[in-house]
Order: sequence, then structure tokens, then C-alpha cells
Amino acid sequence: MKLSPVIRPVDNMGRVVIPNEIRKQMNLTGGKDSVEIFAQGDSIILRKLQSTCAFCNSVNSKMFEYKGLRICEKCLDEMNELRDSAVTTFE
Ligand SMILES: [Zn+2]
Repeated sequence: MKLSPVIRPVDNMGRVVIPNEIRKQMNLTGGKDSVEIFAQGDSIILRKLQSTCAFCNSVNSKMFEYKGLRICEKCLDEMNELRDSAVTTFE
């Protein structure tokens, strides 16, 4: 991980501008993308929110997360159908 020595002020409303270079590198589009914010020790971590389904790449307002993967409702329904159709082939 490359640590960029970019210093930015926090304004009086708590806002920080993400440097343009990093936005380009992360393909982060203002007004479209979101970030997840974590506090860890003495660090604040920003992670681009992956809003597309891990299986079909669709963008859906109702998403589920399982073991770090985002799954849309349609794919989750298909997985449920797959589970329901399971046949035990051994005794
Ligand atoms: Zn999906």
C-alpha cells in the first residue's frame, strides 16, 4: 500500500476533500459513488462502496452482504431456488 503524504484540512463541518489523484486512481466519481468510513486505532479508513452485485454486476437499491460480497435480491432469490431444488443423491 502506497501512503501519499497529502495533507488536507478538515473544515468546520467535518468535510475533507479526497485528492483528485486518488479519486482518479480509485475511479471514484463525485455525486455518484459513496465511501464506507471506518475508524481503526489512530487511522480513519475510507473504502469505495461496491454497490454492484458480485454475481451479475447489477446495481440495485436492495443489496445483501455475505462474507464481504454484495448480492442483489434477484441473485439471492435464485440461490434460494437452487437450495430448494437440491436433491440428496446418496443415503
Ligand atoms: Zn445479482
